[in-house]
Amino acid sequence: MMNLAALVHSLRCSLLHIESRLLQAAGLDRHLAPALAVNGPSLLPQLQPQVDQEHQQEEEPSGLMDSILWMAVPKKRRTIEVNRTRRRSDSKLLKVQNNIEPCPECGHLKQKHILCGFCYAKVCKETRLIRQRIQATEGGPLRAPTVETVVLYEGETPSEQDKDKRIVERARKRPAWFS
Ligand SMILES: [Zn+2]
Repeated sequence: MMNLAALVHSLRCSLLHIESRLLQAAGLDRHLAPALAVNGPSLLPQLQPQVDQEHQQEEEPSGLMDSILWMAVPKKRRTIEVNRTRRRSDSKLLKVQNNIEPCPECGHLKQKHILCGFCYAKVCKETRLIRQRIQATEGGPLRAPTVETVVLYEGETPSEQDKDKRIVERARKRPAWFS
């Protein structure tokens, strides 16, 4: 008798369990669902996960990783031989320069189509000194007369043509390249 009563009780419990599962699967008892989740085999194993996935997709907030732009990465490591062959190929080596010649003024090496940097630095320095001399003589750029300017070096006298021009005197010998 006791065994039969226990069997009936267990059958009743399992029927109640199945009924509650069916109601859960149909979505009819969301408010009446127990708060405790029971781990067990589901009667409708495909329907329940789909519902869960949809809920997750709807309710999942945008995370930090969503703003990252994922890019492709190499799948195989390239060996050092392959890398060196690529880096030292003929197209990446320095080209031989055939357009180099000595400067006719100072003898420094320079490219044929480019001004000599050494001579250009000399001209810049002399120009700066001439401007300093003009500044000391006239006291400012706004006082410059509107006439042509002639630079006279040590031991030079103004010619007849230069009488009316602005004369800037430099206390040094005329450089060989200044004409
Ligand atoms: Zn030069």
